[in-house]
Amino acid sequence: MATVVIRKSSYDYNTLRPAFFELMNTIGGSLITPDTRVLIKPNLLSPATPQQAVLTHPHIVKATVEYVLHRGAHPQVSDSPAMGSFEKILKISGIGDAVKESDVICKEFERSASIDIGEPFRTIEIAEDAINADIVINLPKLKTHSQMLLTLGVKNMFGCIIGYRKPEWHLRTGVNRALFAKLLVLTYQRINPSFTILDGILAMEGEGPGSGGIPRALGVLIGSRDAHAVDSTVCRMLRLDPERLLTVKIARDMGLIDDKIEIVGHLPKITDFKFPVVVPLVYGPRILHGFIRKHLLQRPVCDNNTCRACEECINICPAGAISLPAKMIRFDYNRCIRCYCCIEVCPYGALHASESFAGRFVRRAIARYF
Ligand code: SF4
Ligand code: SF4
Repeated sequence: MATVVIRKSSYDYNTLRPAFFELMNTIGGSLITPDTRVLIKPNLLSPATPQQAVLTHPHIVKATVEYVLHRGAHPQVSDSPAMGSFEKILKISGIGDAVKESDVICKEFERSASIDIGEPFRTIEIAEDAINADIVINLPKLKTHSQMLLTLGVKNMFGCIIGYRKPEWHLRTGVNRALFAKLLVLTYQRINPSFTILDGILAMEGEGPGSGGIPRALGVLIGSRDAHAVDSTVCRMLRLDPERLLTVKIARDMGLIDDKIEIVGHLPKITDFKFPVVVPLVYGPRILHGFIRKHLLQRPVCDNNTCRACEECINICPAGAISLPAKMIRFDYNRCIRCYCCIEVCPYGALHASESFAGRFVRRAIARYF
């Protein structure tokens, strides 16, 4: 049976540090022994301030570094951002300042190793630092995600796939969310972090995971040796049917989740959390899938008044479906695979997913009659 520990906290470091240390001790932090190499993997998606709730908070990274040092081990903080330089993210997020007095290596993932994660993907490239570390500490942020509903503990490990290979995997899994979720689950299983501590102190609701989401104070740290148990516990806290979070559903189907979870501490009940609008990407009779995909699926759209023509969405799009004629974003929906990477990286919140009136009408009709 997995144990999940819940601790109430704010980001005030005098409150957070003891809460974090106590949580780690409770879930088995003594596993970190002197002279071991410990990889700390926060969510460092893109340059963002702590108030935007896009990234793992700098004080949680700092507390983790100090805990690892307290155990006599050697910490390294790494990720592979979707957008912006690693150095810029350290600066804007405040993580660089938070850990500058500590004996810690902060560096972007650079080299990959070819790792067999099993069928149907077989060999994928995963950051060597994550594979070779003695211990991995996973520090996800509790955020919504316009493609996968939420991004929690299991999904945070996808950041160990370096740079351009992330959108490449989006392209290969196409519009099949379940297949993408399986990739996330198998990647997590292969890296197998020893600890997952979720930053739910200032979470994000609405159209996350980037600047389009809305910060939402929940005031909790949720920790476990098992990220599946953390993710299932978040579903329970947010009153979300776990079948709707595909990484949980697939892990359950694969027998990776023990539904008997011991919860230590008070789990809040949150009944009004705002989830993003996520509609099925493939529905209806198979014969209509081509037509539905082209004309009726939820699609990324741009608010050209908010867009600053920075081209980050163009750079990340794995399908080459975005152009910028006359400083106005244009989508080629025939090419677009609906991975929503563009929405994820837009630094100005100019993109969101939208379903056309015809799409909504046809989807409901199909759901009723087939
Ligand atoms: S346009 Fe956006 S949603 Fe479509 S393939 Fe490109 S990045 Fe993905
Ligand atoms: S939509 Fe966002 S990411 Fe794309 S060019 Fe405009 S501001 Fe940049």
